[in-house]
Amino acid sequence: MKKNKCNNLSSQQKPYNQRIIRLVQAMGATEIGFSDLSMLPVKKRMGFKRGISVIIKLSNGILNQIEDEPTQTYFNHYRSVNRLIDDICLRILLELEADGYPGVAIATSQSVSDPKDQFTGAFQHKTAAVLSGLGWIGRSALFIHQRYGPRVRMGTILTNAPLIVGEPVTESACGSCRACVKACPAMAIEGRIWEPGMPRNELYDAYSCSQHMKEAFHHIGRGVVCGLCVVACPIGK
Ligand code: SF4
Ligand code: SF4
Repeated sequence: MKKNKCNNLSSQQKPYNQRIIRLVQAMGATEIGFSDLSMLPVKKRMGFKRGISVIIKLSNGILNQIEDEPTQTYFNHYRSVNRLIDDICLRILLELEADGYPGVAIATSQSVSDPKDQFTGAFQHKTAAVLSGLGWIGRSALFIHQRYGPRVRMGTILTNAPLIVGEPVTESACGSCRACVKACPAMAIEGRIWEPGMPRNELYDAYSCSQHMKEAFHHIGRGVVCGLCVVACPIGK
């Protein structure tokens, strides 16, 4: 796994990164990543060149209670973590704007109405996280943090602030593992190994996943969570 370049710099070289790092640590984030988004289409990155990924690790105690369906506790935890990430992203955004760097904070679960893809977000958090060097995309199409696996939630801030960026991850580390493929009750995971630029639908069928959650797990959080591919993954267990 390639290291985030930020980790190799002296404190004199990364003052702005350090300021943001201190802020998110004080607010309870598990990790932060900095990415160069300039290779993405301008519209997709909303004209901004840098991404800040805010990551919070989910509770192992809560995830470990999931067996063959999500739990109400997991649903509540999922929402609480999303709220905390959104608060942290807002604080960072306000700091950046106070310093003269307008930006956009992408909420953890913000979806947009796109006629071509009803399951897409305003910006893909996992794109920024992979470009920041924190992990890769698993066979499950989930972001797989190099240490915590898919047991994380994320938010993103788009900015033009002068940030030192990480080195993108360009290879999957799933290897021969297929645990998520076997665990998915909707058979929504195709089982392919991710490569940079691969469309999501070559990895998994978002419609089948969503339909299964709505039909099988409607009694838990109205069918918006599942978590079976998360808990099946050996990374971060
Ligand atoms: S969330 Fe559940 S249904 Fe969707 S891909 Fe993962 S295991 Fe399958
Ligand atoms: S369960 Fe295995 S194949 Fe699926 S994302 Fe995790 S490491 Fe990759």
